[in-house]
Amino acid sequence: MKKETDILVIGAGPVGLFTVFEAGLLGLKCTLIDNLDKVGGQCSELYPEKPIYDIPGVPNQTAQEHVDALMEQIKPFDFDLHLSQRVESIEVHSIEDGITTWFVKTNEGIECITKNIFIAAGAGSFEPRRPPNIEDPDKFLGNGVSYAVKSKDLYKDKNLFIFGGGDSALDWALDLSEKTAELTLIHRRNEYRAVPDSVMRARKLSEQGKINIIENAKIHAINGKDSQLISILVGNNESEEFTIKIDHLLVFYGLAPKLGPIADWGLDINRKTINVDTEKFQTSTEGIYAIGDINYYPGKKKLILSGFHEAALAAFAIKQRIEPDKKVHLQYTTTSSIMHERLGLKE
Ligand code: FAD
Repeated sequence: MKKETDILVIGAGPVGLFTVFEAGLLGLKCTLIDNLDKVGGQCSELYPEKPIYDIPGVPNQTAQEHVDALMEQIKPFDFDLHLSQRVESIEVHSIEDGITTWFVKTNEGIECITKNIFIAAGAGSFEPRRPPNIEDPDKFLGNGVSYAVKSKDLYKDKNLFIFGGGDSALDWALDLSEKTAELTLIHRRNEYRAVPDSVMRARKLSEQGKINIIENAKIHAINGKDSQLISILVGNNESEEFTIKIDHLLVFYGLAPKLGPIADWGLDINRKTINVDTEKFQTSTEGIYAIGDINYYPGKKKLILSGFHEAALAAFAIKQRIEPDKKVHLQYTTTSSIMHERLGLKE
């Protein structure tokens, strides 16, 4: 079923989240889509524990606290949130009275119809890093090879190999060890990025013979037949190689931002950013706006507060676009009764 929304927001980083607030004050509903499995963009993914000192009126807040506060702030408003979904395509759905309606699709099959698209995609969508030096690592993707756990049941009574030394690799090794017939954790070093407690617990399970841990080893090749994974070739520091038959391979080598499909949407791209005007933050295509780190204009600074300003002005612009015959008045949250109503406050 195709969803309809006032604003389709691509990216649930701080700027995408704040858009829900600014749009909500104007009586507009947002649908947010993010490729990550959590909200917060760079703040949650890259530096959740680091303090931020330049959010106006907030002397000191960790990045995760900032994201949590934004989520709290948008609670009064009705919005849809779809995570672990990458927006793949934007096409014209129809044009009426000169206003384009867009048809947007994600890689996981969500379809949305909207008159306004806000691209709040930051540095691009966070994509799993592929194992390096392997020819076509995605050849068996979904047929034995994965970069995320979609269903734990898939690994029930199977022979699973997990590659990586960070929190995701260790957390999933600990979690799935209960389900699998055999689980092996392989890491290219013998020091881990994961929290020490998880490493200690994994080592204990290994001593008890419940999981295998292989250190100082790398994946050299992924082999299969008829698009189904069959075995992997693993190499160690002594230049030895072993072929191991396995059912499933999970690779957790971290995430890296990629511009991805945005480059194919026919917008005026400036290196890895999208050119916009500074009145509405509209791109070269009418009805498509770009806010936050993803946009470019002379003087642009990639700061959270710049993105918040852009979100506010773009929301005013689309309110006017949707209701061209009405004047959009500036109202204050301190005194506007309609805004109080939208915020769910009692007069
Ligand atoms: P992002 O936070 O990058 O979020 C964009 C989201 O869009 C991502 O989750 C991505 O997965 C998603 N996305 C992209 N493409 C797609 C797609 N096709 N489909 C679905 N989802 C998609 N700024 C400050 O103001 N103060 C600071 O002190 C500060 N410290 C920082 C410290 C570090 C270490 C770093 C890395 C950055 C720091 N920044 C700071 C910068 C700040 O984090 C960014 O300005 C801010 O995150 C930009 O927000 P955003 O919402 O525009 O984009």
